[in-house]
Amino acid sequence: MNIVVPIKQVPETSNVKMDPVTGTIIRDGVESIINPLDLYAIETAIQLKETYGGKVTALTMGPPAAEKALREAIAMGCDEGVLVSDRKFSGADTWSTAYVLVHAVKKLDDFDLIIAGERATDGDTGQVGPAMASALDIPLASYISRIDSVRADGMTVERLVEEGYETLEIDLPALLTVVKEISYPRLPTLRGKQKARNTELPVLTAEDLEVEEVYLGLKGSPTRVVKIETPKVTRGGTILKAVDEESMNDAIEELVEFLKTREMI
Ligand SMILES: Cc1cc2nc3c(=O)[nH]c(=O)nc-3n(C[C@H](O)[C@H](O)[C@H](O)COP(=O)(O)OP(=O)(O)OC[C@H]3O[C@@H](n4cnc5c(N)ncnc54)[C@H](O)[C@@H]3O)c2cc1C
Repeated sequence: MNIVVPIKQVPETSNVKMDPVTGTIIRDGVESIINPLDLYAIETAIQLKETYGGKVTALTMGPPAAEKALREAIAMGCDEGVLVSDRKFSGADTWSTAYVLVHAVKKLDDFDLIIAGERATDGDTGQVGPAMASALDIPLASYISRIDSVRADGMTVERLVEEGYETLEIDLPALLTVVKEISYPRLPTLRGKQKARNTELPVLTAEDLEVEEVYLGLKGSPTRVVKIETPKVTRGGTILKAVDEESMNDAIEELVEFLKTREMI
C-alpha cells in the first residue's frame, strides 16, 4: 500500500504572537513543529504499512526550513520525504496550497491512499485535505476515527460525527482526514533519527511541477485574509453583593428587574 501523508509545519502554538498592525502571525524567531494533528496521520500511515506493506511518503509545501518536519516524519517511520518549495508558492491560500500539493502527488509513484490531518493549528480551516481529494477526483472520507478493514480496492472506515460514528465503505485510491482518536503517535527512535539524517529529500519547484503560475502564491489565491482579530473580553456589569437575608432579597429584586428590562423573563 503506497501512502502519501501531507504534513504542514506550523508555529509552536504556545509561542504564537500576532503582528498588531498587519494582523498576521509573526513567524520569525518562532519554533516550528509538525502540525500536531498531522502526527496522527503519520502514525496511521505507518501502522497500515506495517500491516500491509508498501511505503509512506511525507509531503510538505513550505520554505526550505520545512525540511525539518520531513526528517521528523522519517524519524517516526516514514520511508521518504518530499519538499515542495519555491518562492512563487508563498502566501498561498488553501485552494492554491491544494493545487500545488496535488501536482506534487502526481509526480510521485502511484498511491493507494492519502492521509491528511484534520486541520492545521495555524490556518485552522481543514480545507486542504478535502480540496486535494476534489482536485484529484478521488473519494474523500473526513474525520476518520478508525480503519476497520482494508481490501485491495477499498476499505471500511469509521467517521466521527456529532452524534456518534458513521461506518463508510470507500473505494481506493482515496483521501482520508483523520482525528486524534485514530491512533497514538509514536516517538522517533534512535535508528529512525539516524535514517532521517541520511535520507536525501527531493525538492520540487514550480518548474518541476509544471504548474500554471497564475494559480500560485498570494497572487494566484482566490481568497485573502484581510484582518485577524482577537476577541475582546468585556467585563462590564454590576456586581450584586448579598451578605445577609435583606441584601439577598434586594439583589434578587434587582436581578429580576434587570431581566425584565431585557425581556428575558
Ligand atoms: C480565506 C483564507 C485566506 C488565506 N490567505 C492567505 C494569505 O493571503 N496569505 C497566507 O500566507 N496565507 C493565507 N491563508 C493561510 C493558508 O491558506 C493556509 O495556511 C494554508 O493554505 C493551509 O491551510 P490551513 O493552515 O488552514 O490547513 P488545513 O486545511 O487546516 O490543513 C489540513 C491538512 O492539510 C494538510 N496541509 C495543509 N497545509 C499543508 C502544506 N503546506 N503542506 C502539506 N500539507 C498541508 C495537512 O495534512 C493538514 O493537517 C489563508 C487561509 C484562508 C482560509
